[in-house]
Amino acid sequence: MAIISSKQQPQPQEPDKQPRQRKQVAKESSDENLLQPQAAIDETDNKEEGIRPQRFADYIGQKDLKDVLEIAIKAAKSRGEVLDHLLLYGPPGLGKTTMAMILASEMGVNYKITSAPALERPRDIMGLLINLKPGDIIFIDEIHRLSRMTEEILYPAMEDYRLDITVGRGSSARTRSIPLSKFTLVGATTRVGALTSPLRDRFGLIQKLRFYEVEELSQIVLRTAQLLKTDVNKDGALEIARRARGTPRIANRLLKRVRDYAEVKSTGEIDETIAAEALQLFQVDPCGLDWTDRTMLSTIVEQFNGGPVGLDTIAAATGEDTQTIEEVYEPYLMQIGYLQRTHRGRVATPAAYKHLGFKPPNEQLSLLG
Ligand code: ADP
Repeated sequence: MAIISSKQQPQPQEPDKQPRQRKQVAKESSDENLLQPQAAIDETDNKEEGIRPQRFADYIGQKDLKDVLEIAIKAAKSRGEVLDHLLLYGPPGLGKTTMAMILASEMGVNYKITSAPALERPRDIMGLLINLKPGDIIFIDEIHRLSRMTEEILYPAMEDYRLDITVGRGSSARTRSIPLSKFTLVGATTRVGALTSPLRDRFGLIQKLRFYEVEELSQIVLRTAQLLKTDVNKDGALEIARRARGTPRIANRLLKRVRDYAEVKSTGEIDETIAAEALQLFQVDPCGLDWTDRTMLSTIVEQFNGGPVGLDTIAAATGEDTQTIEEVYEPYLMQIGYLQRTHRGRVATPAAYKHLGFKPPNEQLSLLG
């Protein structure tokens, strides 16, 4: 069955026909690398649930996104209509799934969470659509990975709330249309450019999620610490936030590791020193870079004189696949100004040289001159 997780709003007369299932994922999780994105995806259903914000008020940051969605919700509610289909894009862990759940709770409707790899066969998406109740929200993660057939089933479903089924074969084949309940599709992707344009065009709202500011992440750390009943002071929270790559999921994960360290090595209270010590032990540097980031940058700087270097070479040097490098590592390195993507390859910036302890090339030249 295609559904990974579903939530029914309280409806005493309606038994929950969709038992909650553990999220299926295509990738393995790894606790070894704290910044690993894949670990991110498959923890959604268990470890993250207790700390995931449930209402707009608890969803920190992303002001532009919240402003747009609050208006869309108010307008849809006042007209008694369903919310327009929404596409959320941005790196993993920034709050796309959380926002879909908040939308359902703010609209007072049920949600179903799934991902494109779980919708490979047409009957998966058909089953999902037929069972929808009016107003339901379907969240499809990694929506750029939908199969062509699944995508084609979605077109009339999204546009006219209609399922077109072909009955029979050859010259006797006929298309039957089944009406569907009006619903909202929330799609999430790390690669908006990989969506086909017919699919992209069927979303009424397309919104980008941005990396979070340190101050916002420190608020998230303080909120999570309260839920975990852990003592963190303001400077401790800021230290974790600085090393969280602009990403709430990473901030929460780092907090849990620092909590372990503080409990074992100290009194359990987290301040700036304890946070810095713990994160140094876990090889997360003061900018939040891990071994893979540093290996990427040092390969470009030391072996290729700053670049440009092809993506495959970087992947081989780090042992990561090109997709992970492109979707997870590079966006943050570009965001902090350490890496540039050019049509000839990746280039390390002077800031990256400095971070690794090397003199940038133009300074080397001026010294020679
Ligand atoms: P995505 O779907 O973009 O990969 P999620 O929505 O699963 O990311 O978010 C990962 C975790 O980060 C959530 O469990 C939640 O605890 C936390 N989180 C994400 N966004 C926020 C936010 N704006 N405020 C507070 N916590 C957040």
